[in-house]
Amino acid sequence: MSNLIKPHSTIGIIGGGQLGRMMAFSAKERGYQVGVLDPTPNCPTAQVADWHIEADYDDAEALLSLAKQCDVLTYEFENVDASTIERVMDQVHVPQGTDLLLITQNRLKEKEFFKKSGIPVASYARIDSIEDLKNQSETIGYPSVLKTIQGGYDGKGQFVLKKSSDIESAATLLEQGTCILEKWVSFQMEVSVMVTRNERGTIAVFPVSENIHQNNILLKSIVPARISKDLQKEVKQIAETIADQLNLVGVLGIELFVTEQGELYANELAPRPHNSGHYSIEACTDSQFDMHIRAICGYSLPEVELLKPAVMVNILGEHLERAHELNEQQPSWHVHDYGKSEAKVGRKMGHITVLTDDVNQTLNEVEDTGIWKF
Ligand code: AMP
Repeated sequence: MSNLIKPHSTIGIIGGGQLGRMMAFSAKERGYQVGVLDPTPNCPTAQVADWHIEADYDDAEALLSLAKQCDVLTYEFENVDASTIERVMDQVHVPQGTDLLLITQNRLKEKEFFKKSGIPVASYARIDSIEDLKNQSETIGYPSVLKTIQGGYDGKGQFVLKKSSDIESAATLLEQGTCILEKWVSFQMEVSVMVTRNERGTIAVFPVSENIHQNNILLKSIVPARISKDLQKEVKQIAETIADQLNLVGVLGIELFVTEQGELYANELAPRPHNSGHYSIEACTDSQFDMHIRAICGYSLPEVELLKPAVMVNILGEHLERAHELNEQQPSWHVHDYGKSEAKVGRKMGHITVLTDDVNQTLNEVEDTGIWKF
């Protein structure tokens, strides 16, 4: 019990977006102090944290200052430079370590990890040149998708190849460095699952979420995912295997494809809370943020139970004004606003969670608002 990070200690968060903000809410509820490192003044997390270091994530001096003032350090996004974190590990407890970051920052390493752990993935190949792309396109076939191995998110840094004449245009992605070519999975559904593990090896898996994207941005999640109980069990087993294999501490999101034949293919890992897990704030006995804070502070983990099925819808910049009206029109809907000052089109500004006994009716009600174009 000696390595518990107790209430009133300070948690440092690298990154000041909505994920850090919701982590900070959970931390504050439990009596922790919170410091955040982020370059943007008044960023979503800074509005909740006790203090804010306004500097870039890769500013080594600023990170050192954050580390020195904290008892435990965590991050809200995966593109933090692992070597910069390594340099402050003698100053502060970093329970998540850096191995997980190194894997999730690199699509090739991530795929190799899945394969090594016996988790099914779509066929893939490393691509360093247009010749590689030509050769591997023949082996993998069409359609396929070329992705930069580093730095892409929400579909950025990706090119779908439908035929051989797409190779020339797709190859421009190689200017950004090594890529990975993946076979296109003709999925029936995209699902994700959040898993938490603590240093003692206790694992808690959240219910499986069904995710609907638009322009590669998550639009809606439905929980539990409308897949068979057996498939849900399989997803949960995959989550446990991954958490164990990674020696995970904290929360991790796993995205998977489900085919019509009921096959599962792992797509991606997110070494942090995930948008598709936001439903857990109201719909579960503990949220993904609560469980993350418990895990990184060394506490025991409860099993997570779903209190009620839920529909979660993202509020992007173009939805914000009308979504605010739902506070009045739909008092039982949980409308979250991340406190961002500028509502740009496509920018995640908040989300809504609706607890429901009738998912179809709720989906219709959401559609009837006319705010979202599905
Ligand atoms: P990613 O950044 O890898 O999560 O990809 C963004 C989105 O593109 C995914 O949520 C899928 O909708 C789609 N996608 C990516 N890779 C594949 C694939 N191999 N097969 C089918 N769809 C994919």
